[in-house]
Amino acid sequence: SSSPRDDAVVVIGLGRFGGAVAGSLLRLGHDVLGIDENAALVQSWADRLTHVVQADSTNGDTLRRLGVHEFGRAVVGIGSDLEASVLTVLALCELGVPDIWAKANGPKHGRILERTGAHHVVYPEADMGARVAHLVTGKMIDFIEFDDGFAIAKTSAPHETEGKTLAESALRSKYGVTVVGVKRPRADFGYARPETMIQRGDLLIVSGPTKLVEAFAAIT
Ligand code: ADP
Repeated sequence: SSSPRDDAVVVIGLGRFGGAVAGSLLRLGHDVLGIDENAALVQSWADRLTHVVQADSTNGDTLRRLGVHEFGRAVVGIGSDLEASVLTVLALCELGVPDIWAKANGPKHGRILERTGAHHVVYPEADMGARVAHLVTGKMIDFIEFDDGFAIAKTSAPHETEGKTLAESALRSKYGVTVVGVKRPRADFGYARPETMIQRGDLLIVSGPTKLVEAFAAIT
């Protein structure tokens, strides 16, 4: 076919990171082409991925023969082999793949990938490390920070909110955070409404500027 396969994704490097990406894409219903130079790894994916090929992804001609230039999106999960990571991103760029995502092991690797033409660079270890720092103190049950200084956290409801509605607690004017959801033990997650009554043991999903979300979690 000569039309770009916009919904399909090529995942290069099926290690721990690339494997998780490929597995989730499959579950979400996407068409995935997996590429790895490791024969045993490729074999282990053969019954799950419709298209999985053993190949050296640093070779642009090989990628073209595999039809990679027809894909709308590519994810490069090669981390430890810096040269292979950079040459693969370069080959994808030269093939004109319009949306290239690449994993970096650190900031220098990331800068090289950006200069090489990756459209999105991700830092799984650094991001997860920062997330664990928020969780390990026990105040937050979950924490996600967006790159524009905005965060969402799951935290226990502060004592001052118990027995009050969210409107009465006025957390937005007091702490600058917005409650978006409330999770009661043994109940489903519910969207927060002004008349939602908070009880002891409830968990709150709060959003707002990262600093304010962190400060709010610290008072609980
Ligand atoms: P992770 O930490 O996510 O497991 P690794 O960097 O250890 O990441 O693994 C990257 C994967 O990429 C490995 O499975 C490896 O075989 C594959 N890989 C590395 N270099 C190439 C290459 N030139 N061509 C294809 N696959 C490669």
